[in-house]
Amino acid sequence: MNDSIERVADILIRQHYVVCLSGAGMSVESGIRPFRGPGGLWTEFGEPPLDDYRRFVSDPVGYWRNLLQPQGHYLELYKTLAEAVPHQGYFALAELERQGVVKHVITQNIDGLHHRAGSKHVTEIHGNYTLCRCVECGTRCERSQVDVSTLPPRCPVCAGIMKSDVVVFGEPIPEDVGRACSEQVDLADCMLLVGTSAYVYPAAGFPRHVSAQGGILIEMGPQPTEITELCDISVQGTAAEVLPQLYDAIVERVKEPIQPDGTAE
Ligand SMILES: [Zn+2]
Repeated sequence: MNDSIERVADILIRQHYVVCLSGAGMSVESGIRPFRGPGGLWTEFGEPPLDDYRRFVSDPVGYWRNLLQPQGHYLELYKTLAEAVPHQGYFALAELERQGVVKHVITQNIDGLHHRAGSKHVTEIHGNYTLCRCVECGTRCERSQVDVSTLPPRCPVCAGIMKSDVVVFGEPIPEDVGRACSEQVDLADCMLLVGTSAYVYPAAGFPRHVSAQGGILIEMGPQPTEITELCDISVQGTAAEVLPQLYDAIVERVKEPIQPDGTAE
């Protein structure tokens, strides 16, 4: 097994509060195309306008019509989201949380795959495509439960306008999400970066904050990124390859093999 995975396993079982930060690289192996770079949706369809939120505010009905009948890169995105299933790396991470090794997952992804794999403590910085959110009070509900017979749909709690929970360009990160991220990052004495170059703010600030408070940064990804230099350890490999190996290495150390029914021996 990879030496660096052994070192990471030693660190993770020693640290008190490990937070995972995941990004687009984690979802690629589940069939979700990245936005930028080779094979990216925006590479193919062009960069989307950067004033999405302003356009939602000025024309929520138009926003909803586009959401209900997506075109261009949105159509392609929703197709791949609907078909995606969590890979082994997601299950390994969920299992590490159940074992108490990983305390929280902060993700830049909107696909909900961490939840589907069984992770319980997840903060989705950019929202979740299966949910809608009230822009007034922040109430969320399943998108399938939202009544779209009259547009724009209204919040069941405060009658504010609903939008997709997915954070669009120009939209502030929802308050509760921002707060949850700050709390987790403050607590973290180790951050595991999976499939993210932590290039886009606010996520870009998280590893830097953890490092500044003396925490350990571990990066996992197929190639070096902008954050590699700041990391204490970089493990080269994809999430689907590396996380299950890491899980095995940790189980070996805690000497309690996990049974298929989820109980320790
Ligand atoms: Zn509301």
